[in-house]
Amino acid sequence: ALCHLNGELLPLREAKISVLDRGFIFGDGLYEVIPVYGRRCFRFAEHMARLERGLAKLRIPNPHSRDGWLALARELVATQPADDQLVYIEITRGVAPRDHVMPEGLTPTVFVMTNPMKPPSAEQRHHGVACVTARDFRWERGDIKSVSLLGNVLARQISADQGAVETVLFRDGWLTEASSSNVWVVHEGALLGTPKSGHVLEGIRYDLLAELCAEVGIAYNLRPIAESDVRAADELILTSATKEVLPITRLDGEPVGHGALRGKPGPVYARLYEAYQRAKLE
Ligand code: PLP
Repeated sequence: ALCHLNGELLPLREAKISVLDRGFIFGDGLYEVIPVYGRRCFRFAEHMARLERGLAKLRIPNPHSRDGWLALARELVATQPADDQLVYIEITRGVAPRDHVMPEGLTPTVFVMTNPMKPPSAEQRHHGVACVTARDFRWERGDIKSVSLLGNVLARQISADQGAVETVLFRDGWLTEASSSNVWVVHEGALLGTPKSGHVLEGIRYDLLAELCAEVGIAYNLRPIAESDVRAADELILTSATKEVLPITRLDGEPVGHGALRGKPGPVYARLYEAYQRAKLE
């Protein structure tokens, strides 16, 4: 596969960076993961807006305009056989002698690759997935889509070790998110999400779900969600660029939901999934 590194298109296995890159030394960089459907970047402007906000927070100059980024992504997408792909962009502060202080005037390192999109399997969509819970021990700048992902890696492994798909995190008894997804609670027919803060990544699906909810007539509300509300939820849903919308049907081994739908994907999920698939084609 081809990738893009600092202005050069080259085979992925030939792409090399300096050991003094601050991304390698400090995790001092950002990334984006952009879904591509039918060779078109999905919600590209929203991904760019988040990238721009993140770069400003880190005081890293944006190496490209939105059109420049789009041209790069399209160039790579065109080299791949799959129509549906996931474009990965990484920008680090650049290469410098090791020092915590941000050096002035560095040229950021820019890396872009693309991989075939692997959406959830039909089995996962029809039966839902198992998740486990853990304490959110990550830092308080979770709004930044940082490549410093050790906290997320440690969190994800908790579920991987138990054969589960995600780790749902609670901070002081309140839902934050999962290791690489946002988490949504269905309560009395309404979709509830955690308010945006430094404890969660503002997933591109926040605003997308708000739009889809408005379209299909589901109430959408961001408010603090207690752990007890998560455990008593009618439905639990994961979202991310790769998972799209995916129902959680077991949490810590317990079936999610009530009555006939206990342990099964629910109606709010089903409507959002359908609306999401329509949105992809627009
Ligand atoms: N939360 C975390 C920690 C993530 O890494 C991600 C990324 O996939 C998300 C939430 C979901 O964000 P998005 O919908 O932009 O993929």
